Amino acid sequence: MSQEKSAIKKIRATGAMREVMAEYFAELDEAAKTGSEKIAWCTSVGPAELLRSFGFLVYFPENHGALLGATRMAADLIPAATAAGYSPEICSYLTSDVGSYLSKTTPLTRAFGMESVPKADVLVYNTNQCRDVQDWLGFYEREWGVPMLGIQTPRSVGDLSDAIVGGLIEQHKALIPHLEEISGRKFDIDRLREVMASSHRCTQLWREVLRLATHRPSPITFFDCTIHMGPAVVLRGEERAERYYEVLIAELEERIADGVGAVDDESLRFYWEGMPVWGKLRDHAEQFAGHRACVVASTYCNSWIFDALEYADPFEGMARAYTEIFIVRSEDFKQGYMESMVRDYAIDGIIFHDAKTCPNNSNNRYGLPLRLREQIGTPFVVIDGDLNDLRLYSEEQARTQFEALVEQLQEQPA
Ligand code: SF4
Repeated sequence: MSQEKSAIKKIRATGAMREVMAEYFAELDEAAKTGSEKIAWCTSVGPAELLRSFGFLVYFPENHGALLGATRMAADLIPAATAAGYSPEICSYLTSDVGSYLSKTTPLTRAFGMESVPKADVLVYNTNQCRDVQDWLGFYEREWGVPMLGIQTPRSVGDLSDAIVGGLIEQHKALIPHLEEISGRKFDIDRLREVMASSHRCTQLWREVLRLATHRPSPITFFDCTIHMGPAVVLRGEERAERYYEVLIAELEERIADGVGAVDDESLRFYWEGMPVWGKLRDHAEQFAGHRACVVASTYCNSWIFDALEYADPFEGMARAYTEIFIVRSEDFKQGYMESMVRDYAIDGIIFHDAKTCPNNSNNRYGLPLRLREQIGTPFVVIDGDLNDLRLYSEEQARTQFEALVEQLQEQPA
């Protein structure tokens, strides 16, 4: 099959997003240099709202991990972490970030003029996504001698029982005295409610962005969404994230009204399961567009929708919101979720990315692709690769597998 590459359509709002992100990093840099405000590091689906309610500026190391992948710096930096005892087979966000720290090199310098990552006053994790986040922040706890706090969440959860939710509520409440001491501020439940309301509005706007891809042709691709989810990840709970998504939604609605798709002459629609291959985003976007194929939905980008943040009790809201997400759930839940996504987005085929250093976000390993095909008949391929470590990814193999799936779909009777 001939491989065509197609130009990627630029989203105008990207400029506004870059400004918002630059402002966010400038504030962190200033606080780290002057000590004007306290900085909390938080894992991506950790209790960011609680931290913001205490006035912390919140930094997300996974965002730095993604930058290390997207700039293709990761593979050069991982060996420094390996030399410090971190296996190249564990999370490559962790190893590239630790390698970056040990090598005193960060993509934040080129992107935002920062000499280094902002030093934390407190490190806060939630193991809802994996144990690696605790080990990751543990490196900085030892390095800087700053406190580390955490939430331990059970995994493979089917129904959220009262016992699970109750335990998580207590764990969130137990953080308060520590955060009061570190921040020097008293806990203010009204402030927490305000932050959570803003975070919930941000979630709803982000959901709207993703839902617009149910249109045919879709105005946005998964590859666009991995970039535009930045404010939902690092600025949820702040109004500027909401304002940004209003701008993005207006542009996407304009595309829909004008019949403009993100991919010209869209003919096939795909679901991407698993992490992006950050260093290959552009290549993948061009490759799919070259086949008039649009990746319209993904588990990854949907993971920043937190409906439960609107609960009247903010602690129950956080406990539920950060446990309801896909990565925490049982195989049966995941199958049901993907079946509904395939239906809602009119998906023709599924790409499972088996990210070698992230078993937590690779859902091809326990029979799910075959069960889905048996249940709803959706063809799939499994692409071997990694989020950051490009030494684990074969361009040729991925292309061949993807093209085989396209051929299979094109041969199917209409
Ligand atoms: S979920 Fe995967 S990519 Fe994310 S921190 Fe954990 S191991 Fe790393």
